[in-house]
Amino acid sequence: MSLIVQKFGGSSVADAASIKRVARRIVHAKRAGNDVVVVVSAMGDTTDELLELANQVSDGPPARELDMLLTAGERISMSLLAMAIADLGADARSYTGSQAGLITDGAHGAARIVGVSPGRIQEAIADGAIPIVAGFQGVSHDTKDVTTLGRGGSDTTAVALAVALNASVCEIYTDVDGVFSADPRIVPAARKVPFITYEEMLELAAVGAKVLHVRCVEYARRGDLPIHVRSSFSTHEGTFVLSPEAIATAIAEGRAMEQPIISGAAADVNDAKITVIGVPDKPGEAAAIFRALADASINVDMIVQNVSAAATGRTDVTFTCAQGASATAKKALEAQRAVIGFEALLVDDQIAKVSLVGAGMRSNPGVSATFFTALADANINVQMISTSEIRISVVTTVADASRAVQALHTAFGLDADGEAVVYGGTGR
Ligand code: ADP
Ligand code: ASP
Ligand code: MG
Repeated sequence: MSLIVQKFGGSSVADAASIKRVARRIVHAKRAGNDVVVVVSAMGDTTDELLELANQVSDGPPARELDMLLTAGERISMSLLAMAIADLGADARSYTGSQAGLITDGAHGAARIVGVSPGRIQEAIADGAIPIVAGFQGVSHDTKDVTTLGRGGSDTTAVALAVALNASVCEIYTDVDGVFSADPRIVPAARKVPFITYEEMLELAAVGAKVLHVRCVEYARRGDLPIHVRSSFSTHEGTFVLSPEAIATAIAEGRAMEQPIISGAAADVNDAKITVIGVPDKPGEAAAIFRALADASINVDMIVQNVSAAATGRTDVTFTCAQGASATAKKALEAQRAVIGFEALLVDDQIAKVSLVGAGMRSNPGVSATFFTALADANINVQMISTSEIRISVVTTVADASRAVQALHTAFGLDADGEAVVYGGTGR
């Protein structure tokens, strides 16, 4: 008998009818002879609505209370789903993240899982029941408080549980048929990627393909756990996220095709760009800037330093960080202004990071040439550039982002003949 963890996202449990549809699917998997553990997200846009409510009652909701509020969203869907399953004659029991043994650090809003003790889940399985676990939440042993894992974090709850329970697969059910070569809401001609390595999926998730939470991919890679991303609205096979070795085996057995050079393109509009103007061009200046940012716990992404002007002996340093962190970054730098000696700060949050990901970049020359030609032909200005072995990212204006993704998708021959199906959800 195999153990399957199934995770259902918000759009899959958006209303009563959807919850009943998902319940039938779960019971079907159980009656087919599997042990099934379910992880569920809050219904539809509940999390966004709760956040809006919090912002209506407070100018700065305390992080602890915000987490307490947001975890309620998943409690609603888990209990309703358990009721719908009971109606089908199966035994289902819902558990909060804390009851399910999801232990995290104390970082409200972005907690990391530090351990999983799924004793109660194992007991339920042994009793022949279907445990339904609230996604996106845990409890800190240090503070004893309830925490959340960051937006989209239910994926990580599911994978962490799957690894801890030694499941054979973690199925992530969502509102599209799998991982596509671009967000089907931006590029209708996006094509489904049948197999993708953990490494490529990590890069794609990190640059804006929100179909999977980045940390869930890290978890799966460490535990060598297969992830199957698929739609809860269809029975189509989705995308398998696997190790390169597992994909090589699938190719050798004729289950998979040779992997493409490029797996996909994505855009992220949640970054901000900060330019530190007039930095004295002498040793230690960059260190002082990035030390100030590190001390304020700011994650810096791209960095560019311009050539200094000979007349002034000064230069500009530009970096990107999460939009939500830009005010803190600005404050941290202003506090060090006298020490660093810069002239001014410029913050621009109307930027987008547009990226192309593919393991084939390592061994295929000309990818950069095609990339920049495609953007030039679309008359898109590039503000910053950064690369990894398997990724090229550029900063553009927000207004250019979707067009840039489209242009890259076409230039790299990724366009499919038909249109990708988006079954539900609002894309929020
Ligand atoms: P869920 O509520 O099921 O967790 P999400 O909204 O978090 O769903 O993720 C699914 C959405 O991710 C899709 O509706 C799609 O718009 C978006 N998306 C972004 N990039 C991609 C991609 N490369 N492949 C598939 N979906 C993507
Ligand atoms: N409900 C949470 C969110 O909207 C977690 C999740 O859906 O994965 O971010
Ligand atoms: Mg999600």
